[in-house]
Amino acid sequence: MTQVYNFSAGPAMMPKAVLEQAQQELLNWQNQGTSVMEVSHRGKFFMELATQSEQDFREVYNIPQNYKILFLQGGARGQFAAVPMNLIGAKGKALYLNSGHWSGMAAKEARNFCEIDEINIFEKDQNGVIAVTRTDFSDIAEQYDYVHYCTNETITGVQIKQIPNVGNAVLVADMSSDILSTQIDISKFGLIYAGAQKNLGPAGITIVIVREDLIGKARTATPSIWNYETQVNTDSMINTPPTFAWYLCSLVFKHLIKEGGLGAVEKRNAVKAALLYNYLNNSSFYRNYIAEANRSVMNVTFSTDNDELNAKFVAEATACGLHTLKGHKVLGGMRASIYNAMPIEGVEALIQFMDKFAKENA
Ligand SMILES: *Cc1c(COP(=O)(O)O)cnc(C)c1O
Repeated sequence: MTQVYNFSAGPAMMPKAVLEQAQQELLNWQNQGTSVMEVSHRGKFFMELATQSEQDFREVYNIPQNYKILFLQGGARGQFAAVPMNLIGAKGKALYLNSGHWSGMAAKEARNFCEIDEINIFEKDQNGVIAVTRTDFSDIAEQYDYVHYCTNETITGVQIKQIPNVGNAVLVADMSSDILSTQIDISKFGLIYAGAQKNLGPAGITIVIVREDLIGKARTATPSIWNYETQVNTDSMINTPPTFAWYLCSLVFKHLIKEGGLGAVEKRNAVKAALLYNYLNNSSFYRNYIAEANRSVMNVTFSTDNDELNAKFVAEATACGLHTLKGHKVLGGMRASIYNAMPIEGVEALIQFMDKFAKENA
């Protein structure tokens, strides 16, 4: 079988070493003679896994002690609703920064729960190049209970690399597609959430990092599975958690530590993205439509500006083992998602293919 590199935006590729370990332990986990998915989440072994995974995640991401970490269900979309249910308080209003599809979706969902103001913070210039135009909101932010934004717009490949300035207001971030990709100052955030299926593990589990002083303010009608206080008090086990997904995340965290931690991961991600963007910069055949400062390190979008050629590209790439390069239908073209688990060799193989395809079809 040809070597396959999976450029899917999510559910995305997992580290091979993690899948191999899971395979090895599948029938006999912790010498229990059963798999991890068949044991009680309240039993000794799973509780140990839960505690250890939280510790590892805290260590890898350098999360301060005054933040709680929750392992929930419902994906990022669940959090689109949970955030306003839990964080709307005395000010009665939230600010949503719109940088594209996902931040727009978050704002739309929030409107079901509270009053919001929504600001467009990106622009498309006359050449079609998308840029984020504003990151300082310190003049208006403090009239809101929180300010929400998306650090990485997965569909367009627009990343906001500078943490928005919101003064003393509470900053909430959807980090679904770039969590654990780079070192960040967690203390700048009130709350961070991410569905696991891009950069942390498989689909079915969602991580929330929430500052302690924001817990315990949920509106009365908040379902207990969405109530941060309830979930904190029950170690994210108010109901049966997605134990197998949690287990796989725990292996991913251990794997990251073994690989040298986030510093090493960040360097590797920067190398991968630079290879691809440098190639695009020097190409007259492909174009990327994102301003230099906002080019995502995780999702690299490009196009030949010809729908037929794009389709041919995707089909031929797939035949060569370079999978899931079709862009999201909202944008068209191609998208290479190069999350933590994508090895440099995958990016090199993609560039080699792009070059060959360009020469054959120019
Ligand atoms: C994938 C994605 C979502 C949606 O995640 P679900 O877990 O499917 O709800 C939301 N935000 C961003 C930035 C994403 O990449």
